[in-house]
Amino acid sequence: MRGILVAMSEKGKGMALHNKILVGLFLGAIAGLAANIIGPSAGWQSLVNGTPGWIQTPLTWMYVNLIPFVGDAFLAMIYMIVVPLLFSALILGVSELGDVAKVGRIGVRSLLLTLLFSGIAVVIAFALVNAVKPGTFISQESREVLYEQYATKGTEKQAAGEVKIPDPPAGGIIPKNPLLEATRALSGGIMPFMFFALLFGLAMCKSDTEKVAPVKQFFDGIFEISQKVIDIAMLLAPYAVFALIFQTAAGLGIEIFKTLGAYAVVVLVGLAIHMFVVYSILIKVIAKRNPLTFFRNIRSVMLTAFATSSSNATLPIALKSAEEDLGLPKEISSFVLTVGATANQNGTALFEGITLIFFCQLFGIPLDASQQFMLLMLSILAGIGTAGVPGGSWPVIGSILTTMKVPAGAIGIAFGVDRILDMSRTVLNVTGDIAIAACVAEWEGQSVEIPDEVLA
Ligand code: ASP
Repeated sequence: MRGILVAMSEKGKGMALHNKILVGLFLGAIAGLAANIIGPSAGWQSLVNGTPGWIQTPLTWMYVNLIPFVGDAFLAMIYMIVVPLLFSALILGVSELGDVAKVGRIGVRSLLLTLLFSGIAVVIAFALVNAVKPGTFISQESREVLYEQYATKGTEKQAAGEVKIPDPPAGGIIPKNPLLEATRALSGGIMPFMFFALLFGLAMCKSDTEKVAPVKQFFDGIFEISQKVIDIAMLLAPYAVFALIFQTAAGLGIEIFKTLGAYAVVVLVGLAIHMFVVYSILIKVIAKRNPLTFFRNIRSVMLTAFATSSSNATLPIALKSAEEDLGLPKEISSFVLTVGATANQNGTALFEGITLIFFCQLFGIPLDASQQFMLLMLSILAGIGTAGVPGGSWPVIGSILTTMKVPAGAIGIAFGVDRILDMSRTVLNVTGDIAIAACVAEWEGQSVEIPDEVLA
């Protein structure tokens, strides 16, 4: 409760942003469905045509100009930050992981656990989304409508079901000219650009620390500012969610909610399996703690993560709770949790894995085993390159999807239902960090559980 109160009070007096987004979702769905039912083929336009002239003009204006403008403006704000955000996040993530490795045994152990935790998360994601196939809960006809609706100028339009993943751009996955790839980040250049960022980060942590310190500080600043841009974009989210859901529901009717509902359930089930099965086993076997007591002791952290949807905002409470409620040594928890807030995001990796495949299913993009494997690796990497802020996943997902020939604006379909998924995956992100800290502390023989009487 303590955590959730802190989170709420920090958000100020008005309605909390996540509630506003949920209201936007609800109203957008109702209005969109109403438009679809009244005029199934022409959608909102038929509704407009049936109303008196003095109402028609503002309604038409709203449908033709305002609604697409709000949705597009929001998505553009998310996309505009892709290059600086991903570049700085990956460089810092890799160099921090490199620094952690330099810390010696503790660092190497945390690194291995990060890979283990994220790897398991992504495997669960792929198993579930391939078994359930939520993106196929839609007819071929609706798929065409989706393409019509979202294919934008500059996006090569192809018949649904016949889309091929493009050949690797320019110089392949290893870019000859990373700046060129950066300018085509939303049309196939993101992977070579990510490769460049990874190499840059690796080289940075291999360089003379003193000499590269200003560069690191510079990218720290870029990362900080990029996260603020997402924060600002999120202020538009309630209205954008309304607009995006309205457009989708008006065009496709109830069918889109079946597929979106199945997608959301697959994500939530995946998160629940990772949280209650995988974490419980790892906490029991490696950290040698009772998982139930563990979860109970960090409930304020979990509630804060749920309320804020931000690993970064939860970090101070996580640090405090790891020490005071779990008895983890400060030296271990402070660096595992700080690095983990951006680099170890199991919930995000799982979510991104499911979302990438979901969109490919939705747009009828066939994926062979090697492409699935590439997406699996990218999801692990995306967990490292995602900022710990609300909606931090979307720039990453959006830019990867455009390389798969999914129209850029299409992420709006799933963004409508994202808030609850964001709240839930953030809980896993921070819980995973604390679980790793507990495992490392146990391996180091420095884990001292605080008795219940002291905590009460
Ligand atoms: N909101 C998540 C976090 O802060 C990031 C994401 O969007 O997946 O951990």
